Amino acid sequence: MELTEKVLILKTGKFKENDLWVRFLSATRGVQNAFAFGGSRSRKRFGGCLEPFSQVLFKTGTNKTGTYQVLQEGSLIKGYPEIRSDLRKMGLAANCLKFIESAVIEREGSRRIFDLLTETLDVIEESAPDDFFPLFFRAKVAFEEGYNPDFTICSKCGKPLFSSRPVIFDVEKGLVSCSDCDKGRGGELVSAGTVRTLAWIQDTGPSNWTSLKLPTEIRQECFSIMDRFMAYHMGLVWEGHSYKKI
Ligand SMILES: [Zn+2]
Repeated sequence: MELTEKVLILKTGKFKENDLWVRFLSATRGVQNAFAFGGSRSRKRFGGCLEPFSQVLFKTGTNKTGTYQVLQEGSLIKGYPEIRSDLRKMGLAANCLKFIESAVIEREGSRRIFDLLTETLDVIEESAPDDFFPLFFRAKVAFEEGYNPDFTICSKCGKPLFSSRPVIFDVEKGLVSCSDCDKGRGGELVSAGTVRTLAWIQDTGPSNWTSLKLPTEIRQECFSIMDRFMAYHMGLVWEGHSYKKI
């Protein structure tokens, strides 16, 4: 079976003198692996499009027995020269790529995740987002994958949550409730600023996030609550330099 699709290169490695393996996010099929025979040699078939941080139009097939995918040729749609030459930008972008590589992206959601990732790379390429930008990206991926709590109304009484009072977030159930309804039944106390920030991320995209100036304590609370939420529901934790499936 042959197909042509838009992909973003996540990782590339050598497995023989001239051959490469490539891990990429397909806009239609989620994260995929394939071999590029002659990949490090053939400029004609793969000229400049097997590096991480490349948006490529790939023609893919399978080997004779259908056991693995083979890249036949690619043409570069977009490279990210600033990300590749600026270590700080590269760090932010690599963090987003690693998360995608580890997360199990549902096939039907892969178009949305592809658009989100390329838009995120565009923003990192063109502006100077701060260090917590990848957290926003990770949270948005979780929301897009359906782990999407309602941060605007109490899950028990239906009252709006946007007052200045803290709310209670049940990480396991993914439910948010007002402090009147909770009465010590578990869940974590979260500030109103944090739920407002998370609701805002649900409604916006990467190009909006660079303008946000967040107080340190809200930033840290967003990090800690969302990282635990994603660890519980998506089974992903950050360990040293990569995400680990738990
Ligand atoms: Zn309530």
